[in-house]
Amino acid sequence: MSNPVPITVAHGDGIGPEIMAATLHILKEAGANLEIETIDIGEKVYLAGNSSGIEPSAWESLRRTKVFLKAPITTPQGGGYKSLNVTVRKTLGLFANIRPCVSYHPFVETKHPSMDVVIVRENEEDLYAGIEHRQTEQVMQCLKLISRPGSEKIVRHAFEYARRNNRKKVTCFTKDNIMKLTDGLFHKVFDEIAAEYPDIEKEHWIVDIGAAKLADTPEVFDVIVMPNLYGDVLSDVAAQIAGSVGLAGSANIGEHVSMFEAIHGSAPRRAGQNLANPSGLFLGAVMLLVHIGETTVAERVHNAWLRTIEDGIHTYDIYEEGKSKEKVGTKEFAEAVGQRVGQTPQTLKAAKYKSANEMPPAAKVVKPTQTRAKKDLVGVDVFLDWTKGSSNDLGDALSKLSGDGTKLDIISNRGVKVWPGGHAETFCSDHWRCRFLSDSEGGTVSHPQIISLLTRFADAGFDFIKTENLCNFDGERGYSLDQGA
Ligand code: NAD
Repeated sequence: MSNPVPITVAHGDGIGPEIMAATLHILKEAGANLEIETIDIGEKVYLAGNSSGIEPSAWESLRRTKVFLKAPITTPQGGGYKSLNVTVRKTLGLFANIRPCVSYHPFVETKHPSMDVVIVRENEEDLYAGIEHRQTEQVMQCLKLISRPGSEKIVRHAFEYARRNNRKKVTCFTKDNIMKLTDGLFHKVFDEIAAEYPDIEKEHWIVDIGAAKLADTPEVFDVIVMPNLYGDVLSDVAAQIAGSVGLAGSANIGEHVSMFEAIHGSAPRRAGQNLANPSGLFLGAVMLLVHIGETTVAERVHNAWLRTIEDGIHTYDIYEEGKSKEKVGTKEFAEAVGQRVGQTPQTLKAAKYKSANEMPPAAKVVKPTQTRAKKDLVGVDVFLDWTKGSSNDLGDALSKLSGDGTKLDIISNRGVKVWPGGHAETFCSDHWRCRFLSDSEGGTVSHPQIISLLTRFADAGFDFIKTENLCNFDGERGYSLDQGA
């Protein structure tokens, strides 16, 4: 027998210890060759005064084993406690969240009997950078950041996942009809990378109609890749409509470390009563086994689990009179799965995982020669906190600040053009964007010219909140136009 594979395990809070014990029982029954290192995270650690919920020694274990099986934890109520999930995800660079959402019809109630969708969510960028500012009395801002390397990593991961798991199609959801630069980049990268996988079908949907289609007809989708926020919302929707959030596991994949868990929380009200369904965490553990190359054990335990579900042995959350045969507790469910190791499902599709040598090799990444685009500074947006009159009043006042190479071009309020030639009906908040461009057609401006412009703003008594430089990259506009402009 080969050396056991070291993994780090956290038993978590609430129902965590019970569902972890159940999961580890099944893995042991199937002979999984694992060396388990246990770490403490969560409520206990928070309450002992560590506001991040994780001890330095736990990081050391994670860096060494690189594989983490994590039960849900409770974040204590009240301020000051940072979300451990976000901390772990960001610290370890877990860029991909993979969530299979499968229906187990006719054994678990669902409106979508043939649903089998995998959501691949970008896990680090987008609005989740958490960069927020209050800029005026009335207006708050959250920055949405989408990077090319971040988009490339997640999209490539989605296509590699599809290829390795015999999936036929990858769909991308974005809102690039509105967010042409950020979501537009994600979509563009999707099209570029899709071209490297001619064996896999690809398509793009605008997220709103895509979400509606997913909720109504999920069987038309296979793998769906999306930016962080849409993925956060839609992966819960997909898990719920497949049957139950209690049945879904997920993988958080990084370049160095990966984490596997259930998608639900610690359900404190159900804790300590031998009630909780361990299936979400268990299916997370199956993904872990596949990740470390233990595909034979993964297949054995997954098929034993499918057989248990088919045999109608159900925990309270999926138990249904007439459909289920026996209502069992957490422990008894795990024992039932353990007893079925070696059996396969009779109606549901049996799990089949490719071993490492059956896997197609990862597509060769051809890195284009890194030439940085030619960046030209062509103007600046100055944002103001201002309440002293109409948009025309502001236009008149700011026109006087033109000079020294820059000229007022347009003023907008919440993205809508209000000067010159605004509409009386447009609602204006106290947050104004004032665009100054070079005073020579198509010309550039310099940093000192922008500083001199800001000095004129300050001298005239304007409260500027921030500036955004306007740049062209290889001649292509790197900023949005106003609505109505
Ligand atoms: P939750 O997912 O813990 O529970 C919501 C409800 O879903 C429960 O009351 C229960 O009825 C049901 N449920 C969840 N898991 C179940 C299971 N395995 N078997 C049977 N029924 C199950 O969500 P919540 O109540 O909003 O959060 C409770 C705590 O969990 C909070 O402290 C929250 O911060 C934390 N949380 C942790 C994670 C994580 O660690 N990954 C994720 C989400 C929430």
